Amino acid sequence: MILKIVQVGDPILREAARTLTLKEIASAETQQLIRDMRDTMHDAPGVGLAAPQIGLPLRIAVIEDPESILDDVPPEDLAERERRPIAFHVIINPVITLLGEGKANFYEGCLSLAGFSAVVPRARTIRVEYLDERGIARAIDASGWYARILQHEIDHLHGALYIDRMQSRTFTSLDNFARYAKGRPISASPDAPKT
Ligand code: ZN
Repeated sequence: MILKIVQVGDPILREAARTLTLKEIASAETQQLIRDMRDTMHDAPGVGLAAPQIGLPLRIAVIEDPESILDDVPPEDLAERERRPIAFHVIINPVITLLGEGKANFYEGCLSLAGFSAVVPRARTIRVEYLDERGIARAIDASGWYARILQHEIDHLHGALYIDRMQSRTFTSLDNFARYAKGRPISASPDAPKT
């Protein structure tokens, strides 16, 4: 089922989401929610979706950066962003640790701020400890674009949006992004990084 994605201004996007219990993770409701979030992310299309974006204050997010999207991104953009295909997966109750001093500045977008983009500084390398959809404890060491997606989604679980971290003078509509910003040193395909 495709769920409605709430837009900026909805208070749910500013709430801290709550932790799920192992029993909740195993429940039929949560397993159905994961399928619905996956369908909704594909439909958008986006490369990540957090539960607050579909109106639920739960610490759960889905992520996938598939070949089918990357095929439409110029190879030099993929290399500059350290962007590689990421298979579908679910993160539940994630805890993030920023590693190293490296920062990357790129345009990113959000399905809950439809039609806009801005340059957002993000840590280049991170570690995330989380539970998977079966409640099994796992860890991810991520760098580059995948690290950006994870930081963006985990921000949603804390009630934070990219506009809290953006370089505010770069904030742009996607129309004007295509007109003025695309192809400049800090650039992105306007439909590439929505999460
Ligand atoms: Zn978002």
